[in-house]
Amino acid sequence: MEQAITDQVICRNCKTPHRYDIENCTVCDFPIYGTDKEQSVFIAKQITQKADVKDSFRKMQLSRNLLFGIGAFNICMALFSLIIEKSFGIELFFGIALGGLFIFFSLLTKKNPLFATGGPIVLYLIYIVALTTIDSRYLTDGVIFKIAFFMILGYGFFSTIKANSILKKNPYLVSLIDKK
Ligand SMILES: [Zn+2]
Repeated sequence: MEQAITDQVICRNCKTPHRYDIENCTVCDFPIYGTDKEQSVFIAKQITQKADVKDSFRKMQLSRNLLFGIGAFNICMALFSLIIEKSFGIELFFGIALGGLFIFFSLLTKKNPLFATGGPIVLYLIYIVALTTIDSRYLTDGVIFKIAFFMILGYGFFSTIKANSILKKNPYLVSLIDKK
């Protein structure tokens, strides 16, 4: 029985027991017999990566709120004009459809964050280009909103790509992060 205990080494990082002759933990890649420096470099890197992944969740939450807000705003404006003007025109239909589309994307931010942020970026770019070719003044209309829109969704998009590549190389991190 004694032999069985000394044959094992427990990973100090993730507490997985291993055969004593293993170099790196098979679960978290911790250098089990590494020097103090190697082990602290590993831990520091793990903390940074964890922060990057959490940061991408925060940015995606912001994207989610932005998309939902724009969607709700469009629908409210459409309904408001229906009440005021009492006519069911093409603008009303367009406003509700656009609002619904934004809410659809906001609901997808958890399931498919790249599509949920990349989709609206592409659609809005097409929309801006199309309107600008009709009237060049449109390009500078509401420019602060446009910049904020592309920045928030762009950050969400690129931080998700970064987080995905971190989690792909280091699946153990998933267990350290509680998705909220
Ligand atoms: Zn480990």
